[in-house]
Amino acid sequence: MEIRLDQLGEPRFIWRETLELAPDELAHDDLLDIGPIDCRGSLDATHSGFVLRLSLRYEQALSCVRCLGEIRSEVRPELDFLIEFQSAEEGGEMEEEVSLEREDLGVLMMSTPLLDTRPLVVEQVQLGLPMKPLCKKDCAGLCGRCGSDLNQGPCDCEAEVDPRWAALKGLSKG
Ligand SMILES: [Zn+2]
Ligand SMILES: [Zn+2]
Repeated sequence: MEIRLDQLGEPRFIWRETLELAPDELAHDDLLDIGPIDCRGSLDATHSGFVLRLSLRYEQALSCVRCLGEIRSEVRPELDFLIEFQSAEEGGEMEEEVSLEREDLGVLMMSTPLLDTRPLVVEQVQLGLPMKPLCKKDCAGLCGRCGSDLNQGPCDCEAEVDPRWAALKGLSKG
C-alpha cells in the first residue's frame, strides 16, 4: 500500500492490508510456498515524523535441507520504525553518515512523503526465512544410496554390510 504521509489528517492512522508475495520474489532456495501476508499497520505522528508499527501474520512452507520434507509454520513478526524526513537542504558527507547511523537504530529516512509498505514487508519476510531450514534439530536426512527417509527408520542399505567388514566381525567374535 502507498500512503501519502503529508495527507493523513489524523494524528493516528491505522490500516490493514493483505499482500501476496511470490516465492520467487523472496529469492530463497528452500522456500516452497508463502501464504498471503496479513498486515496491520499504524502510523503515529511525532514532532518530527512518524512512528510506524507493522504486525504481520502469514504461513510459510520450507523444505528441510536434509530430508527435503515440508516444514509449515505460522510466522508473526512485529516491527517498528521511526520515520524521519530528509530535507532537501541536508546533504553532504556528514549528513550521510548520520543517516546511516540512524538506520541502524530502526529509523527510516525518507526524502518524499510517499510511503510504500510493500518493500518493508518483503524485507521482514526475508528476515524470517532461516538459512538452512531443518524439520527437526536431529533430522536424519535421506540415505545417500537409496534416497529413503532415514527419519522413518533404517533403510535396507544399512543391512548390506561390506563383505570385508563382515569377515572382520566374524573374526572378532571368534
Ligand atoms: Zn528433515
Ligand atoms: Zn538406503
